[in-house]
Amino acid sequence: MTAANGKPEKIRCDACPVMCYIAEGRSGACDRYANDNGQLVRLDPLTILEKTEASGGDIVPFLEKEWEGDILPPKDGFVTAIGAGTTYPDYKPAPFIVSSEVDGVDMITVVTEGIFSYCGVKLKIDTDRHLGTECAPVRADGEVVGHVTTSEYGSQMLSLGGVHHLTGGSKKEGRVTCATMLALCNGEEVDLEIDDGADLRVQAGKAPVINGDLEVRMRVGCGSATVGMFAAQWKDLVDEVIVVDDHITGVMSEHQAGKVIGWEPTGIKINGRRSTPGRYFQVAEPGTGWGGTNLQDPLSIIGAFDAKTAKPGLSLLMVSTTGEHSAYYELNEELMPVQKDMPDRLQPSVRRIEENCEPAMTSVLFMAGAGGSLRSGVTEHPVGLTRSVQNSLTYVSCGGAPVYIWPGGGITFMADVTRMPKNAFGYVPTPALVAPIEFTMRAEDYKALGGHMDYVMPLSEALTGKTGRQNDHILKGRRSVSSPGGKSWPTGSDNYPWKGAR
Ligand code: SF4
Repeated sequence: MTAANGKPEKIRCDACPVMCYIAEGRSGACDRYANDNGQLVRLDPLTILEKTEASGGDIVPFLEKEWEGDILPPKDGFVTAIGAGTTYPDYKPAPFIVSSEVDGVDMITVVTEGIFSYCGVKLKIDTDRHLGTECAPVRADGEVVGHVTTSEYGSQMLSLGGVHHLTGGSKKEGRVTCATMLALCNGEEVDLEIDDGADLRVQAGKAPVINGDLEVRMRVGCGSATVGMFAAQWKDLVDEVIVVDDHITGVMSEHQAGKVIGWEPTGIKINGRRSTPGRYFQVAEPGTGWGGTNLQDPLSIIGAFDAKTAKPGLSLLMVSTTGEHSAYYELNEELMPVQKDMPDRLQPSVRRIEENCEPAMTSVLFMAGAGGSLRSGVTEHPVGLTRSVQNSLTYVSCGGAPVYIWPGGGITFMADVTRMPKNAFGYVPTPALVAPIEFTMRAEDYKALGGHMDYVMPLSEALTGKTGRQNDHILKGRRSVSSPGGKSWPTGSDNYPWKGAR
């Protein structure tokens, strides 16, 4: 088709509300779709999971030639939604509704790239260091994209994205929020700053960089737990041990773990709020020093020793929860601690704390709600899908990766982005994130919930890139990626209730 000016007519993409007009040879605003000779093309390859060793991400083109079966698709591959395309508005059936047989049971997988305005990213950063106070804004490129949330055991948590940052602030805030989430979900490195807190460089599955320093270890436990774990190993090697921790600082001679194996009182006094014997809160302010406190000199948490109990020469080990900081002291004649070299007899115990720490890592969980109209692409009776998921009749996966479904209403899920194939996520400029989602269930359950049975295609056809008649687009290519089998395999019968009671 040519326009009045003699140029080829632009085609319209209707895969999201932006409804781009795309000129020949160009791509739309999200770079997901393009105009190839007047045909709307989904540019990213359709991603197939294979249980066996896959082709390592090699792309088999669909566009350039007819499928000749020269590289055979896997017989039991799983068609993920990555590269499958989106149907908008959702009265149209999902781009792929695929039938397969698993253990003699007819199954259906409904595959679509969902557009998620309600979505966010939860970051778990393994570190004791104080990154910022709870609720402190987290920024990327100067824009607020989230906040610090509750600390967890050995980790600091950030909550990023969400509909308010995407659409409730300025255009720039929405754009930067979307770009930050997209980069994190696709496994890229991202720089963040926390107001009155730390500068971070984070990437899914990698150690965080905090104020320019690579974090190495996640703590072995809180100060109290560390006292308990190593009490027996320190017995008879030193008179007193203090494990410095921003949460609970542990004191061996007072702690139950020390008492039961006969540690004698030392007359020590800790400046902090005593919780229970040998466990102290608030010994210092949070910070990036010893054990997640702001301490550079740990002696500042110790008051005067009780002269009735303490003796000159009393030995004292102070150590942090990762073993990163440690120091050894002996009391002088005035019962003041004087730092000495760490004796050889104590060095293995400090190393053991380090050895029992896990490597520090950043975890990125994508969280979204697959409610609303997305469900219409699956069934004419949307609440039927919600109920089916809630009743465990429908298994939800995200790019083939398992998800955790929140209890309660809707289909609110979380998925670990490191379990998904590379570049599983995209975006549209509304702004919103595009994420793959697949719903797998027994064919009879799909029919019962009002599924689009007329649009079901066999797996063998889907694997060759043949799109259903509901699609206005064609696929550029296919790539295969390997996936573990077993329970993680999306159509694995372990995931479905026919193995047990219904
Ligand atoms: S932004 Fe992307 S999905 Fe949306 S209409 Fe444009 S090309 Fe299509």
